[in-house]
Amino acid sequence: MNIIDIIEHKKLGKSLTKEEIFFWIENMMKGDIEDYQTSALLMAICLKGFDENESVYLTQAMLDSGDKLDLSCFENKSVDKHSSGGVGDSTSFIVIPVLAALGYKCAKASGRGLGHTGGTLDKMDSIPNLRTDLTKKEFFDQVKDIGLAIVGQSKDICPADKKLYALRDVTATVSNIGLISASIMSKKLASGAKNIVLDVKCGKGAFMQDENSAIMLAERMVKIGKKMDKNISAVVTNMNYPLDNYIGNSLEILGALKVLKGEKNNLYEVSITLASVLLESMGVENAREKCVEAIDSGLALEKFKQMIKAQGGDVSYIENQEKLLKANKVLEVLSQDEGYVADIDPIKIAHSVQLMGGGRLKTTDDIDLYCGLKINKNINDYVVKQESIATLYINKGDEEKIYNLVLDAFKIENKKTIQPKLIYKIIK
Ligand code: URA
Repeated sequence: MNIIDIIEHKKLGKSLTKEEIFFWIENMMKGDIEDYQTSALLMAICLKGFDENESVYLTQAMLDSGDKLDLSCFENKSVDKHSSGGVGDSTSFIVIPVLAALGYKCAKASGRGLGHTGGTLDKMDSIPNLRTDLTKKEFFDQVKDIGLAIVGQSKDICPADKKLYALRDVTATVSNIGLISASIMSKKLASGAKNIVLDVKCGKGAFMQDENSAIMLAERMVKIGKKMDKNISAVVTNMNYPLDNYIGNSLEILGALKVLKGEKNNLYEVSITLASVLLESMGVENAREKCVEAIDSGLALEKFKQMIKAQGGDVSYIENQEKLLKANKVLEVLSQDEGYVADIDPIKIAHSVQLMGGGRLKTTDDIDLYCGLKINKNINDYVVKQESIATLYINKGDEEKIYNLVLDAFKIENKKTIQPKLIYKIIK
């Protein structure tokens, strides 16, 4: 077997065999296949397609290239969630405590933000002294003890995906559902949970912009997970608008705390849906009622607090959430028009937070953990001129530019728009 024949097969539109895909990935990792050969193969895949079986083989080959977390000690109780990334998306801080409150085991490895999407670890850093670098023993002991822990991802998970992704990024070969699904699923499977729910974002602020592509990606990932013997489902959710009103690292913790303390909003609805879809895939009855009760009883909030405490964080930030609003300057963005809010562009909102210093352009960038904004008017809310549509929390950056970008993110019209769907599809 050699790589030239494999490229030739794909060029002719043939499905690659398991042996061919493993040969490619293993030899790429050994350095015996050149980057230009992998790049040619990636382009052939994008042009000729990559079917379900090929995605499964690639997932397996990339999974085998690095470390895997073994959660078998938690038997069928281990649960995990994954979001394909969005704006104002702090569902992890709700879904994980809800599941822990119901007795499940959540050993979650998360990442940092890059580009317009926020990262769970950066948000956690805004709680002083909170450690996300637990040793393996500390991590397992904590999950055994209180049911949940969120830590940073090991650098040694799926190195083949890291290599492939870097090449895809510079050869215009990212946007292929077969490749994306293998990339996401290899990392998710390496995290070891038996029961998984995926939140596949769809819309202007997401990787997948249209509903059909998002559904196809979600279906492919669920099929891969099932072939790997997981209880897995996916929820395709709307990312044409920020999910929560609080955007920015510390502000997203604040938004999640409000939901854990009883606020019912879009973030609540998506979080409850994710948690209950996961439980339903495990055969749990009355799953939604149980998840609702976990919040209403205060147990999920208690679990979140226990996690912060166990990881060394300052719990006074949870008890007195206003402590998370630490920025030096607070500025109201005033509407120039009167009418109904017809659009809130998530990318412009996310870029405004980046301009404040709250997001990364390069993985090595330092970020401001306490800047961000609160959206005060949502889709179809009525606004009058000079009314505040958003509150900015700023430490640095070009205030005028940031203000105008946020103002520009809002579209005000003289009639109501069709109320957007929050959940597009549930795939089981
Ligand atoms: N996220 C990933 O992890 N991989 C992709 O290919 C695309 C998005």
